[in-house]
Amino acid sequence: MSEYIKTFMADLKAKNPAEPEFHQAVQEVLDSLELVLEKHPEYRSAKIIERIVEPERVIMFRVPWLDDEGDVRVNRGFRIEMNSAIGPYKGGLRFHPSVNLGILKFLAFEQVFKNSLTTLPMGGGKGGSDFDPKGKTDNEVMRFCQSFMTELARHIGPNTDVPAGDIGVGGREIGYMFGQYKRLKNEFTGVLTGKSLNWGGSLIRPEATGYGCVYFASEMLSTKNQSLEGKICLVSGSGNVAQFTVEKILDLGGKVVTLSDSNGYIYDEKGIDREKLKFVMHLKNVKRGRISEYAEKYKEAVYSNIDSSLPANPLWNHKADCAFPSATQNEISGADAQNLIKNGVYVVAEGANMPTTLEGVEVFLDAKILYGPGKAANAGGVAVSGLEMTQNSMRLNWTRDEVDNRLRMIMHSIHKSCVSAADRFGTPGNYVNGANIAGFLKVADAMIDQGVV
Ligand code: NDP
Repeated sequence: MSEYIKTFMADLKAKNPAEPEFHQAVQEVLDSLELVLEKHPEYRSAKIIERIVEPERVIMFRVPWLDDEGDVRVNRGFRIEMNSAIGPYKGGLRFHPSVNLGILKFLAFEQVFKNSLTTLPMGGGKGGSDFDPKGKTDNEVMRFCQSFMTELARHIGPNTDVPAGDIGVGGREIGYMFGQYKRLKNEFTGVLTGKSLNWGGSLIRPEATGYGCVYFASEMLSTKNQSLEGKICLVSGSGNVAQFTVEKILDLGGKVVTLSDSNGYIYDEKGIDREKLKFVMHLKNVKRGRISEYAEKYKEAVYSNIDSSLPANPLWNHKADCAFPSATQNEISGADAQNLIKNGVYVVAEGANMPTTLEGVEVFLDAKILYGPGKAANAGGVAVSGLEMTQNSMRLNWTRDEVDNRLRMIMHSIHKSCVSAADRFGTPGNYVNGANIAGFLKVADAMIDQGVV
């Protein structure tokens, strides 16, 4: 690591204490950018790095709401407007008890590079709340979403900032927030993406992150003249991204043997077929139940609890070819990464954001496996959100095939940009460097063009 980056990271940590995930995300990007900064002193002199880590704006607000007993509850809401050099701020909202400023800053920072890679004109942002939708009634979720949007509405807009879903924010939550925005502003605009089909949503948006991630894995495999046909895959999570990752792996002839939630995971050696996937979708999206119920229904599957205080997660310790982490950040530790390699995994495509720790990333890079980092592999979600914005502006709807073909083309182009940037900067096959560098260059050049703002 250069002296410049060492000093920079020390200053960043001092200035942004208690934000370990943000430090980690910046460190990973800077490790790649070292190669760029050596060749391009103009980025150093324009203080692009100093500017790109500083959000353009951070909004933090009180979200009071009434529960079903009539008691007052208070949560904290956030929106990080990170960078608008190449388009309006764009990125999801996360509702989860773990949400805090540092986690949202890491997500907003990643989003800047990811959105740049999609080829679409979108800046980066992220937001959310420490509200936990789990165990709440529909009415409670609605009252929370209305209160959250009452404040957020004054900061967003179709040409300013266009939020979407993330953990804990799916179609139901987007609907309640859109309704409140429309009521407050008295206008029907594409201010949120992930909307339902009959009021402005795009076909394939729910599927996009999972499908896109599998398309990215296929692109990586094609560099070795291989496909997903017959490959054994480990998938974590059981929410939006995990579900459609499984669906696309099945379409392409692969076999998925695991799924999880925050309590534990199931291992189904026979494979999760379409009927079982339908059961999971109903269990998670309608019944809002736990993944343990899968093993009660399908006796061939084994359920185990996950103890997150242990150094390794048993989900990553099964024989397989591919891994699709699709739950949350830092779910693959250094020990997990070693277990994956030991068990024969040679393709890792990240559906989740930053699911691998810095130690884990190092293990994958040293082993020279096909490792697609989240900001490239899971960019399909935001890409189709961008396509939803376009359809809203044009007031028309594309067909399922049209959106899916565009998604496939975008994932192909992201893969190509990563490969070519990694080659150009002397680290062929390193998708981490490729994604960070390709994503950075477009934003950095736009920032230089637009002056010191
Ligand atoms: P969902 O809320 O639909 O599902 C999240 C899944 O991950 C659930 O199974 C959940 O289990 C599990 N999970 C959440 N937090 C934890 C935790 N701390 N430990 C273990 N398991 C956990 O979210 P998504 O599927 O939308 O998001 C999953 C990941 O993908 C996130 O990292 C998100 O940022 C990323 N992503 C999502 C995009 C999208 O379009 N939705 C786009 C790009 C990235 P439980 O039900 O028990 O909480």
